[in-house]
Amino acid sequence: MAAVKPDLFTGLNTEQEAAVRTVQGPVLVLAGAGTGKTRVLTTRIAHILGQGLARPWEILCVTFTNKAAREMRERTQKLVGASAEGLQNLGTFHSIAAQILRRHADLVGLKSNFTILDDDDQVRLLKGIFEQEGIDQKRYTPKSFAWQIDQWKNKGLTPDKIKGGEGAEFGGNKGIKLYQAYQDRLRILNACDFGDLLLHNLDILTKHPDILETYHRKFKYILVDEYQDTNVSQYLWLRLLTNTDRNLCCVGDDDQSIYGWRGAEVDNILKFERDYPGAKIIRLERNYRSTEHILGAAAGLIKANTARLGKTLFTDEKGGDKVQVQGLWDGAAEAQFVAEDMERLHKGTRDNDPRKWSDMAILVRASFQMRAFEERFVMLQIPYTVVGGPRFFERAEIRDAIAYLRLIQSPDDDLAFERIINVPKRGIGDATVQKLLQQARLAGVSVMTAVRDLIQTDELPARAKTPLVGFMRDFSRWLDLSKDAQASVLLDTVLTDSGYFDMQRADKTSGQTRLDNLKELGNSMAAFDDLAAFLEHVSLVMDLERDNGGDSVRLMTLHAAKGLEFPVVYLPGWEEGIFPSQRSMDEGGLKSLEEERRLAYVGITRARQEAKISFVANRQVYGRWTNQIPSRFVDELPIENVEATSQTGYQSAGWQSQQSRWDRAGYEPNYTKKAEAPAYGGDLAGVDMRRLEPKARPTPHRQPAPAKPSAKNFKLGERVFHMKFGYGLIVEIEGNKLIVNFETSGDKKVIDSFVDRA
Ligand code: ATP
Ligand code: MG
Repeated sequence: MAAVKPDLFTGLNTEQEAAVRTVQGPVLVLAGAGTGKTRVLTTRIAHILGQGLARPWEILCVTFTNKAAREMRERTQKLVGASAEGLQNLGTFHSIAAQILRRHADLVGLKSNFTILDDDDQVRLLKGIFEQEGIDQKRYTPKSFAWQIDQWKNKGLTPDKIKGGEGAEFGGNKGIKLYQAYQDRLRILNACDFGDLLLHNLDILTKHPDILETYHRKFKYILVDEYQDTNVSQYLWLRLLTNTDRNLCCVGDDDQSIYGWRGAEVDNILKFERDYPGAKIIRLERNYRSTEHILGAAAGLIKANTARLGKTLFTDEKGGDKVQVQGLWDGAAEAQFVAEDMERLHKGTRDNDPRKWSDMAILVRASFQMRAFEERFVMLQIPYTVVGGPRFFERAEIRDAIAYLRLIQSPDDDLAFERIINVPKRGIGDATVQKLLQQARLAGVSVMTAVRDLIQTDELPARAKTPLVGFMRDFSRWLDLSKDAQASVLLDTVLTDSGYFDMQRADKTSGQTRLDNLKELGNSMAAFDDLAAFLEHVSLVMDLERDNGGDSVRLMTLHAAKGLEFPVVYLPGWEEGIFPSQRSMDEGGLKSLEEERRLAYVGITRARQEAKISFVANRQVYGRWTNQIPSRFVDELPIENVEATSQTGYQSAGWQSQQSRWDRAGYEPNYTKKAEAPAYGGDLAGVDMRRLEPKARPTPHRQPAPAKPSAKNFKLGERVFHMKFGYGLIVEIEGNKLIVNFETSGDKKVIDSFVDRA
């Protein structure tokens, strides 16, 4: 007689159930996409709580993005109800490490109100150090050095642990010295960067066994999602925090390891059995997410990788739509194709019910690809959300406001001081600011302290001193106010007193938008008890700020899509040089090419019912047209899982050899022919480490490509209609770009494909 299962286990397969029930001792769930790894983790939390094995705050559960953490909390809440609220230690590596660091900040020379620097601050700080040290900033950019520092930190390396040779490009040990200078400066500023959060944790936990002991007692169960993407310092952190009961459960998929470029070590998975002898390894093979064709396409693609553990995957969702592969003329046509397809699905097709906008997602390789889609959505009024995109908190006015708040929260924060001391203009010139910064550096104190001292003396000329005295007077008033006023009230007072609001009001072009954004900032602060909590939130929120949860199309990078699923997924830009990225082809050899392929695998496996891949024949990179070659990944898709249509005459060579039923037409892919310079700079300075996605920046293209001729043969003076700007007369023609004098909006430069003869 079959045992009666409690509700929690209903519907789980045998292996999933084993992974949930085996709560004592180390467990590794190694399984492909969509097999329920994340579901196992949430059910496991529910099981631990349900059995009374631990209280909610005694479970440490780490994920990679804020969105994933939020989803996990919600899923658990559905299973266990209100007690999910007590899961204080469910979050990203960064957020949990920050909590721990605040408690013991003094042990690493910080105060508990330390600031977490963003990229801009980090680079500005390095710039100052480079200037001081006389480094040639044309040869070594502060930005690329910031990247180097992050790489060291990802590997758990403090300056004293770096072996000779690393950072050699800065001249022997110079790199290490600069790194040390940077760390010293951070301490004076009472600040740390993202990498420091974990690094300082490691320092504290290794040097203070008594503290480690308290965490060992506290964290009875540890759970980790996306284990394949942990870097060395995250790995060490987890090892340290695991107590002798070793109740550690990691889930991951080696085929989805996509952060090698940021120091992730897929080897961490392979080492698991060795690190935790007796560990139970559980494999899940049934995919519950995707249809047969989607899974078949993904499996066929990933087969081309050599470095794999190898897994079986099957689904009971037989049949379904084949993966669509669409060749198009150019980027605009691609955006048009995708947007119109979405509209069609939104209305509902003959076979299918209407799709919600939020059922559909576009996953791009690099964020610059988003612009064409965004423009199209605006034009067609399709609601959309950029996930993890150019974010609200990155706008200049928001950064200014936050700099004011940061300075009030932590007056030693020189970077905040530098940002706002003359915004709005107070007549404190650049020269004065530089002088203050220099003074502070020499004295080894913060600028605020230096200013406070200086204005007591006669060292500054009156025209510099008067505005500084005024600023300090305002500042001490805000400081007083911050002790008991609500954060949003404080913000309002600061922006009013400082003249910041007035400055924006005076700006007739975009002042209103900025004022609206600042208002929105005030709204977002209302949810926080105090300024410190709010600022912490701001520095940690790395994704999804604009996901309003409403019914809108989702637009994001492939990296940001990890762990998510959508009924319909669009995968545009499958072209050599975009995907795989030029950098991966030029520099990284097989290793990074395989990482690109894993990223493609992640992309396809996000789809539940429909996956639509596209590539174009022509693309504009920094204003120049280039010919594109379809991605090798297109060729690698098994023909039986794919349905291809093309405007460009391209037929896949891969499919030819697979006995393609299509005739070979004009276009022959030949990757080796494209031996030109990269479309993206190999410059790692373009990589933003803080973000959970690579930011590929197109650099100016190598060869002047001729302007694409206008396909429509427009003539000067012709009257035309544009979908967005209405009627107008053509005043200039340059290839396929037209300058049109529109009746309502004046001269605009537009692409001819958006224009029709009126
Ligand atoms: P990824 O590798 O992409 O992160 P995953 O292994 O974490 O995938 P989940 O997101 O947990 O997979 O699950 C994929 C989908 O399958 C989800 O919609 C989940 O609810 C569903 N699912 C998982 N297990 C079952 C099951 N036993 N019965 C029905 N649906 C399931
Ligand atoms: Mg998952």
